[in-house]
Amino acid sequence: MKTLVIAALIMGTVNAEKLRITVYDKARASHQVSEAIVFNLRRIFRNSGIEIEWVAGVPDAPEATLMIYEPFRTGHELELACHARRDIALDIVPGAVPGVKKQVLGMAQPLTRTGLNVRLFDEHIREAAARENRTYASVLSHAIAHEIGHVLLRSNTHAGRGLMSDVWTGREYDWMAKEALYFTDGESRKMRVMLSGAACSSFE
Ligand SMILES: [Zn+2]
Repeated sequence: MKTLVIAALIMGTVNAEKLRITVYDKARASHQVSEAIVFNLRRIFRNSGIEIEWVAGVPDAPEATLMIYEPFRTGHELELACHARRDIALDIVPGAVPGVKKQVLGMAQPLTRTGLNVRLFDEHIREAAARENRTYASVLSHAIAHEIGHVLLRSNTHAGRGLMSDVWTGREYDWMAKEALYFTDGESRKMRVMLSGAACSSFE
């Protein structure tokens, strides 16, 4: 019995999908905050069967300043989804962002093939954290998870509640505090399929 349990645990680790996240932190979080963010993200994605690799991006890398919009095209969904990058390159931008409402914590480019596919708005996250009485690291890590969710689900659509809901209400911030704000089983499964490339064999 004991052997079986150990075998199951090892299998679980072997079967987890891997996700590389390259981070260009232009808001320059402290070492302590960065550690808290990585810790939270590992917990959130491990719950979805995904192991993350967190890489500090080199500031002068070409992709650090490149964000390309790849539009959705009806009838080509799978092709676009399969050609889009399967890892994450994100930046965290400081200061006020012209034209972006302060309720917007971040954005994603789920279909982009090159350049950044996730962006977080540092000032908006700080304001939300202060308003909702949560730590900056906690709000930022959940916002990163939400935007990565868009990329791995290859969609900008939202759920009615939970991590992938459009606007987090008191309920989501409450779950966040209890470390109970996760992807649903359905979302987790879809993300793992996308990471595995299982649906993309005809495009490789
Ligand atoms: Zn969203």
